[in-house]
Amino acid sequence: MLPLLLALSATVQSGGRAEGQVERGRDTLYQVSTIDALLDGVYGPMATLADVLPHGDVGIGTFEALDGELILLDGQVYQAAADGVVRPMPPETATPFIAVTHFDADQSLTPPAGQDFAGFKTWLEAALPSRNIVYAIRVDGHFGSIRYRSVPRQQTPYPPLAEAAREQVFFARDDIEGTLIGFWCPSFTKGVNVPGFHLHFLSADRRHGGHVLDFTLAEAAVQLDHTNGWDVQLPMQPAFLASDLGADRSEALHAVEQGRPAPAD
Ligand SMILES: [Zn+2]
Repeated sequence: MLPLLLALSATVQSGGRAEGQVERGRDTLYQVSTIDALLDGVYGPMATLADVLPHGDVGIGTFEALDGELILLDGQVYQAAADGVVRPMPPETATPFIAVTHFDADQSLTPPAGQDFAGFKTWLEAALPSRNIVYAIRVDGHFGSIRYRSVPRQQTPYPPLAEAAREQVFFARDDIEGTLIGFWCPSFTKGVNVPGFHLHFLSADRRHGGHVLDFTLAEAAVQLDHTNGWDVQLPMQPAFLASDLGADRSEALHAVEQGRPAPAD
């Protein structure tokens, strides 16, 4: 439920819609720029966190100049930088790509213990009521092990992501409490967001985090937020407007997402 005051103000702003529609407004994946623009090296400032935070309290993305992995959890943005340090980030921080939503759990599940990421994907996809909407995913739990990565800050002229990813830094931790946050997107989001799973990790002590590559789950609680709205902000910025977004970058995306070397485009 929305707090009454928030519901009232949203109703006024939306021209007096019913509360049900206001609630559905929270079930929107709000994103700035597109994944293919990021793959094309569009790492300049497309929005600030202050622009984005009204649209969600959980999410993932990256920072201007590809300066680390972005984790938005419970309304706070963290930078998981390539030096292994996690820092809370202020509202004026700029992002080239971010996807957020207001998390309201619609479905709660308990995964079998001992699952790795591949097993988790198969198990969770079987539990999705449809493959045609977006799901925000939150996993709070204890990880027997987890592998994740971050990417270092890039210099202009920015290289494509496949090239920048050659400098990615890998991290592994055992026996750690934390949260996975991110999204499952339908295949038709290709080119705009990441089809399938895209999860970032933040440890319970907020000292470790990054883009998730693999894990084994000891025990965890999984929550899904069924998300049927999609709001894509196409930046009126020269680098975005000049990017060639007609190419098929799915092969590069697949490699970059999995932390493997990617072919340059
Ligand atoms: Zn990521």
